Amino acid sequence: MYASQSQSCVTRSGKPRKGYYSSDDAEDGADYVFKRYKKRMVPYLCENCGDWHLCPAKRHTPSQHCDPCSKQAYESKQAAERREKILVAERGIWLFIYECPHKNGWHLTSMSKEDFKAEELAKKAQSEAAEKL
Ligand SMILES: [Zn+2]
Ligand SMILES: [Zn+2]
Repeated sequence: MYASQSQSCVTRSGKPRKGYYSSDDAEDGADYVFKRYKKRMVPYLCENCGDWHLCPAKRHTPSQHCDPCSKQAYESKQAAERREKILVAERGIWLFIYECPHKNGWHLTSMSKEDFKAEELAKKAQSEAAEKL
């Protein structure tokens, strides 16, 4: 185990929150907790201390599937941002958060902001053209 005790982060009960250096270590920690306590934990990258912590799967980034967009939708912008940080840290890709056009929450796309805007404009032009028919 390569766990470190972070100074800045405490659990809700006031104990220091266990921090992991990488998502792999955190995954190992989550496996251990699951085997030992039968509790599903999800690693997340902490904005506060920069380490990885575990949080109960139940409380982790609530998301649902958005059928019209056929992608994951996050309940709030904050949840999408949390997920984005994890993906950026893990995969080193840049993600753009946008509100679901069908009001199902928030989505992440790996498209660049420019590409996304271009696509939106193209869609808008298409629907305007369709209206004129
Ligand atoms: Zn922390
Ligand atoms: Zn959607």
